[in-house]
Amino acid sequence: MLTSYKSILNKAYQGGYAVGAFNCLSLENVMGVIAAAEELHSPVILQLAEVQFPYAPMELMAPLFLKAAHQSSVPVAVHLDHGQSFETCARAIRMGFNSVMFDGACLPFENNVSITKAVVRMAKAADVDVEAELGKVGDTGFGGGEGTGSASTADVFTDVEESALFIEKTGIDALAIAIGNLHGKYIATPKLNIKRLTEISERNNMPLVLHGGSGTSEEDFKACVHHGIAKINVATAMQIAITQKIEKYLQQCPQPNYIDMKWKMIEASKETALYHLRLFESEGKAL
Ligand SMILES: [Zn+2]
Repeated sequence: MLTSYKSILNKAYQGGYAVGAFNCLSLENVMGVIAAAEELHSPVILQLAEVQFPYAPMELMAPLFLKAAHQSSVPVAVHLDHGQSFETCARAIRMGFNSVMFDGACLPFENNVSITKAVVRMAKAADVDVEAELGKVGDTGFGGGEGTGSASTADVFTDVEESALFIEKTGIDALAIAIGNLHGKYIATPKLNIKRLTEISERNNMPLVLHGGSGTSEEDFKACVHHGIAKINVATAMQIAITQKIEKYLQQCPQPNYIDMKWKMIEASKETALYHLRLFESEGKAL
C-alpha cells in the first residue's frame, strides 16, 4: 500500500534497520523490486532521480510507481530522488509522489537552507515528506548513479553542528549525509566514516539517508544500519546486475528473444532487491 515516507523511515530508525530505496527506470525494475519486497514482507521505496528523466520521464513513471504501490501488500513510498530545483519538486508533488528530495548540497549553506525550507513549506501543505542533503556526496565518475556531482573525492563530510542547525531551520523529515559515500560504480570499496555517522545521529535523533549504496562493503552497510541510517539508495547495483544477466543470456542463447530478456530484467531487479533488503535487515518489517 502507498505509505508515507516519514512513517516508513521513522519505524526503520527506531527499529535499527534501513529501508531499501531503488531507482527504478522501467516496468521491469518496478516489478522485480515489488516482488522482492512482498516475498520478504519488507517495506520499500520506489524512486526516480531528475537526471534519469530523459530516459524515464517522471510523468510516465509516476502513474506506474503509484499503481504498483497501491496494489502492493507491503508499505511502499514513491520518492523523487535528487530534485534539482523547487520547480521539479513541485512537479513531482503534482504527479503524486509522496516524498521529494531537494538536493542543494552543492549550494552555499544559507541557499540550501532557504530553498529546502520553501520546498518543505510547499510539500507539507500537500502532506508530502522531504529529504535534503548536507555535505557533498561525490561521484565516482563511472556513471549509472543518480547523482549529479562531478568525479571527486568525497572529503567533505557532513558537519555535526551544521546538520543540527540545518534540520532546525528547514523542518525536513530525513537528512542525506556525506560520510565517504560516492555515487556510481566504485573502483575501490570505500571506507565509510561510521564515527561521524554516529555523532550526527546522536545529535539529531532523525532518520538519516545513505546515497551511493552500490559497492559499499557488507560490513559498512551493517554498521550504517545499526547507527542511524534508515534509508539506503541503490541505483547502480541494479543496472550492473541486469547488464550482466543480459550479457550471459545473449552468450548462452542462440536465438534470443525480447520476452525472455524482459523476464531476465525482472529477475535481476528482484535479485538485487532481495540481496539489499536482507542486508539492510528490513525483512519481515512490513507491519
Ligand atoms: Zn544520491
